[in-house]
Amino acid sequence: MESTLKIDGVRYIVTMDPERRIIADGSVVITGARISQVGKAADLAGVATDAVIDGRGMALTPGFVNGHMHISYAHAVRGLFPDDLGADYLPNVFRLQGAMTDDDEHATSLLAITELLKYGTTAFVDPGSTTHLDACLEAYRQSGCRIIVGRSVLDRPNPLNLPVYETDAALRMTEATIAAYNGAPDGLVTAWAMPFSPEFCSPELLAATQAIAESAGTRLTLHFTNGPRWIEECRQRHGCAPTEYLERCGALTPQMTLSHCLGITGDEARLIAERGASVVMCPTAAVKGGAGMTHHGLLPELLQYGATVGLGTDAGNNSNLLETLRSVYLAAVLYKDGRQDVGMIPAETALELGTIRGAAALGLDDIIGSIEPGKAADLVLFDTQRAEWGALHNPVNSLVYNADGRSVHTVLVNGRVVVENHRPRFVDEAGLVAEVQARGEALIKRAGVSFAPRWPVV
Ligand SMILES: [Zn+2]
Repeated sequence: MESTLKIDGVRYIVTMDPERRIIADGSVVITGARISQVGKAADLAGVATDAVIDGRGMALTPGFVNGHMHISYAHAVRGLFPDDLGADYLPNVFRLQGAMTDDDEHATSLLAITELLKYGTTAFVDPGSTTHLDACLEAYRQSGCRIIVGRSVLDRPNPLNLPVYETDAALRMTEATIAAYNGAPDGLVTAWAMPFSPEFCSPELLAATQAIAESAGTRLTLHFTNGPRWIEECRQRHGCAPTEYLERCGALTPQMTLSHCLGITGDEARLIAERGASVVMCPTAAVKGGAGMTHHGLLPELLQYGATVGLGTDAGNNSNLLETLRSVYLAAVLYKDGRQDVGMIPAETALELGTIRGAAALGLDDIIGSIEPGKAADLVLFDTQRAEWGALHNPVNSLVYNADGRSVHTVLVNGRVVVENHRPRFVDEAGLVAEVQARGEALIKRAGVSFAPRWPVV
């Protein structure tokens, strides 16, 4: 018999179901890993379960989805880099990353996952930068998170200190990664093909990774941050825009999730929507990096043309903020300001980007992203009795504009309670933070990368 759990008497359940119902004084019944019933508390009063979580004074949402977050390195060196490193930023990042051991990656992954889960993000994509996946698999298992992994591959010289593979070797590595990790453990880990970017992958590699993903019944993702140099190169060498180039390579498909998606035109946004490719935009990284997101990151146009869009954060160094609700907030406010139009990205749409639309952008919307019978029990309880929640009249407006991860009280993934009363249940948080601090200091020394704070530390 599967165990049963009821979250009872919830102040508001923000279901994100097809009718977008918000159930006042509601309850959710969970059987094993799945949601089995959702309704008014009074209607479910007669349902007895093995355990009960008191939902009074709480708001319940689906677990949040982060479609682009480098799990395994940045926490060890977080906040190291000055704001204005520019083109020197990524080569330093990859130099540090290349010097990490399997134990470093394990501890750093566990800390990143702890932060994500603690503030309500239950599913995330690690876009290919983890080298020691076997070691990190232990961190995924221990925490019980839902994660998509893969290995970044590229076959062209690059100024980023990223290893270059022969095309065949990159393809073998992609196949082996999918074979080894797709579906492990308990189906919570999924593996994708992860060609790094169209700038540093040959057309052959793009086409073949797409074919591998499709035949394995999985997906693929690319860094699609089109700067002026790459846009000009596409124009000169291929006579087209970056999105059209992807289509020519056979990589603009329903299996593709384009990360960042900056530097596109309205016509390219329409093409992405028409071809059924998904997009993950990373507003916290874009604003810190001065990317001009509201100018050429065409989120309103992508939505208008019907593209599937979710949110990500990128790594803990180029955004520093991993909390999906902060990204949801930015999605809701950036375009109102940038376009001087309060009709841009309503709060309801922004919340969809962090939940059901975000799940769809990863091909997971039949499993997660809403609170409905049959879906996985990936759930977040917010304590609405905290100051930032008062007064509460519209749960969507409050979630998007005044709440954040501080009020996340309890988190479940696949029916398992991973955070309880604001504390992760799977790890000694303070001990882990101290361990990653020590590992980060050793890593900086070993890699010979250092940037002193501008103000004197005395
Ligand atoms: Zn990235």
